[in-house]
Amino acid sequence: MTVTAAPPRVFRNALVVTQDAARRLLRADVRVEGGRFTHVGPHAPTEGADVIDAEAFALVPGFVNLHTHVAMHPLRGIADDRDLAGFLETLFAVDAHRTEADVEVGARAGVAEMLLGGTTSFLDLYYFEDAVARAVVDVGARGFLGWAVLDPEMTTQKGRPVDNAAAFIGRWRGHPRVTPLVAPQGVYVCGADTWLGARDLALREKTLVHYHLSETRKEVSEHEAKTGRRPADWLGEIGFLGPGQVAAHAVWLTGGEIARLARAEVGIAHCASSNLKLASGGVAPIVELRAAGAPVGLGTDSVASNNSLSMLREIHLAGLVQKNHRWDASVLPAQQLLDLATIEGARALGREAAIGSIEVGKAADFSLFRLDHPTLQPARPEALVSHLAYAAADDAIDSVFVDGTCVVDHRRLVRGDWTRIRKDLDAAADALWSARPKPGGA
Ligand SMILES: [Zn+2]
Repeated sequence: MTVTAAPPRVFRNALVVTQDAARRLLRADVRVEGGRFTHVGPHAPTEGADVIDAEAFALVPGFVNLHTHVAMHPLRGIADDRDLAGFLETLFAVDAHRTEADVEVGARAGVAEMLLGGTTSFLDLYYFEDAVARAVVDVGARGFLGWAVLDPEMTTQKGRPVDNAAAFIGRWRGHPRVTPLVAPQGVYVCGADTWLGARDLALREKTLVHYHLSETRKEVSEHEAKTGRRPADWLGEIGFLGPGQVAAHAVWLTGGEIARLARAEVGIAHCASSNLKLASGGVAPIVELRAAGAPVGLGTDSVASNNSLSMLREIHLAGLVQKNHRWDASVLPAQQLLDLATIEGARALGREAAIGSIEVGKAADFSLFRLDHPTLQPARPEALVSHLAYAAADDAIDSVFVDGTCVVDHRRLVRGDWTRIRKDLDAAADALWSARPKPGGA
């Protein structure tokens, strides 16, 4: 059950970007009660409610960030301007020094940054996910949290990673804002037993599987050399692929693999910034994946590879990359880009009935954008979706609500103490930055 102390609220006369099936944009009242939308339209009942004049705001669904490693916050800027192999060399060296305490500090900072950018739900892949879950609960987001699994001989985790993931799922099962799940790191560290163990665990627990897939050509060619199959084909042939999964990146796919992933109803997290910055070289075939019917959303990836958790930046960049790459300005128009960050991200998680749009019965996860903000001018309703896709800055977001509870109020965190988070983050960064390999290698 959703537990919320928030009083009923009516947001009167807001400009509502519903993201419902008809993608309606309404001047409407929105009533929120018991953590849900109970009225979207004219003349909301006001009994027992705080009434807020929302005429100066756009009411927009909370963004769904479909791929993060949110606890990596102390590592922003630690491995810039290197390809994935060089990036991972630094990251793995530093990772060995991470503690559950600094993971929690990093996650608090990451969740805070996401909430301030209008992201209310995110899909994470990391270890010590209990620490991430505590940050989610305390700072006030909705987390879909994947415990990273890899082959036992490849990990520093104590015990079998799939067993650790099972225990994590057991500890958080049924939480109103934390969905625990299992997350194979990728084909380069997971053999068939790990993939199938993760899949069986998710099916048994009725939860999701999240993983990296075909991010670089090197990953694909090495896997092909080892198994004779490209990664997505191989995952299909070993019996892994199926609904309830979200694959991050999916840059290097053949037409056959696209059809295979779509047929298996695998969701795709497109990470445009991360792919560009790490120079993955190709451009993810998002248009083809969508045409084949795969649910596609957007992910920021971590602040070590992006280096931002802003979904507004991600929406903007995802659109521009596809248009330029395909010599076609008409692909992924603004409305579709906003869809990727909201209702389509929710669909990739199998949660389109619960989150991703402003509709009666859904969880009240939303942001209020200031219509007087410079990046939303001219404030014409017919241009609002365009502004959100191509122009809006994070600081146009005034307030953010999760489950109807205010978690950002006039650009300040309500539940997290930012001064404290920042101080703890500085201390964690000191320890981790001193553990990085010396430039040029040792
Ligand atoms: Zn990643």
